[in-house]
Amino acid sequence: MTIALLSEQTLYLPPRATAFRAVCEACLESQSASRGYLGATVDGTLPLERAQGSVVCSRGHAIRLVRALPESSYHH
Ligand SMILES: [Zn+2]
Repeated sequence: MTIALLSEQTLYLPPRATAFRAVCEACLESQSASRGYLGATVDGTLPLERAQGSVVCSRGHAIRLVRALPESSYHH
């Protein structure tokens, strides 16, 4: 069975986060549920000055990174 390309994953980072650990949903769906998040996590970084970026998990799934705007920025 061929797994169709999943829609692009997007990860929203908190305003001040520079390093993160995320769960790749594509990996999660392709492995046994008994493994939980094992093997499906991906570590990445996004410099504070960057609003967007991307990371690729160990199995090659692309995950888009979008930095959430701090609430306060709407009021200045
Ligand atoms: Zn993956």
